[in-house]
Amino acid sequence: MKKIFNYINGEFKAPIEDQWIDNYNPSIGDVYSLLPNSSTVDVQNAYEAAEKAFPEWSETPLEQRSKVLSKIASLITENLDQLAKAEAIDNGKPLSLSTSIDIPRASSNFQFFAHALTQFASEAHESTGFNAINFTLRQPIGVVGCISPWNLPLYLFTWKIAPALAAGNTVVAKPSEITPMTAYLLAEICIKAGVPKGVLNIVHGLGNTTGQAIIEHPKIKAISFTGGTATGAHIAKTAAPMFKKLSLELGGKNPNLIFADCDYEKMLSTTLRSSFANQGQICLCGSRIYVERAIYDKFKTDFIAKTNALKIGAPLDAETNIGALVSKSHLEKVKSYIDIATAEGGTILCGGNYVTVKGYENGYYLQPTIIEINNTNCRVAQEEIFGPVVTITPFDSDDEALAMANDVRYGLSCTIWTNNLNRSMYMAKHVQAGIVWVNTWMMRDLRTAFGGTKDSGVGREGGFEALRFFTEPKNICIQY
Ligand code: NAD
Repeated sequence: MKKIFNYINGEFKAPIEDQWIDNYNPSIGDVYSLLPNSSTVDVQNAYEAAEKAFPEWSETPLEQRSKVLSKIASLITENLDQLAKAEAIDNGKPLSLSTSIDIPRASSNFQFFAHALTQFASEAHESTGFNAINFTLRQPIGVVGCISPWNLPLYLFTWKIAPALAAGNTVVAKPSEITPMTAYLLAEICIKAGVPKGVLNIVHGLGNTTGQAIIEHPKIKAISFTGGTATGAHIAKTAAPMFKKLSLELGGKNPNLIFADCDYEKMLSTTLRSSFANQGQICLCGSRIYVERAIYDKFKTDFIAKTNALKIGAPLDAETNIGALVSKSHLEKVKSYIDIATAEGGTILCGGNYVTVKGYENGYYLQPTIIEINNTNCRVAQEEIFGPVVTITPFDSDDEALAMANDVRYGLSCTIWTNNLNRSMYMAKHVQAGIVWVNTWMMRDLRTAFGGTKDSGVGREGGFEALRFFTEPKNICIQY
């Protein structure tokens, strides 16, 4: 059986305690590799390698640091096919998606921060009347921790690592234990790219062992985390007494507000994507769909037809639109919400059942599901399901749409479909979300601030926001 190893001090290492975890291929429901369940000793070894590498890496000239990151970016692109296939097998997502989105974006993450680090500037303030000048030194923090989830494995892993390294930190990183493969392949790429020893260390393992050792480590002074809200709360509680700097990108329950005056066809095809792309396992998916009553019935008919036409199949099949869900337990959790919806008075308009894919009978497949609800206080409208399940509900006025959009504990993103400029601005301003798309979805410019409000997290990633997070500002005041 293939084994995945930790990457510590520039070398592949087995876990010290020889503990291994089964890694499943969700398209067939079978174990296909093993990964380390790293202990506190492995994490300590990774920390020590990172600590030793820090002085040199943090003083490496920017152009040199930039070259290292660019080299990783180009090697990811050169290995696109291998990485995309590995991601599809490990996660269950369609190969078409990992080839067009996940892996190109992982490369862009490194390329973007290779450039951004050369443009990052800090402020100066002249204290007029006092013959003094203040300027801000932005210094790297030291050894930082990066922890990522399973839904966009390499995409989100690199979204943290790239700015952390660009800012001059050294890193102890942990990918999700459910999708470790591309992080392992990234380590191979780092060796080929000539990343200096100890600058990046990748430790694999469970959240409550390996992850816990990272967040508890007293000398890892910043944690960038993407994952569930409950885990984020636990990390915040653990890290607070040590005054760690935290960036927490957490769950979502994003509203999709559709007004009768929108560009209907564009809205319909984009809504299909924002509902079911990656089996609905994207934190930005619009899982609550609110439609103005004037077009509600038409939308319902067309949306059901388009959803029923999606092809559910094996990830590596070129025809597949909807692949496998990431794990058996996640599949069962998502399905349980469909049962809860029925019990709470929702109407299943399409989907709702497990799917058996020929030749892949033990894989984790579920039909894309649309549930009509009128009571937006029910659990399917309030809790993050994180699967191919959306709710649809009509509304009669802008205020009603806004009230329903904001009536959840989350505040990650929102999509608004309207050609009325005043309405789009009013809605965008008042909706409680960190990211608002008008007449589009998931259009990402890597310079923009990315993150959520309310229970969707604290802090922002992206562009200079990420470089600010991964540096400590120091004010220096000189009187002359
Ligand atoms: P999760 O919280 O279970 O796990 C995320 C990571 O945290 C994994 O690597 C896991 O091993 C680790 N972890 C778990 N317990 C830990 C602990 N005690 N200490 C340290 N690390 C620990 O989340 P998941 O199921 O992997 O991912 C799905 C969630 O991620 C969803 O809620 C989704 O909305 C969210 N997400 C958010 C964003 C965003 O940008 N806001 C993006 C993608 C996914």
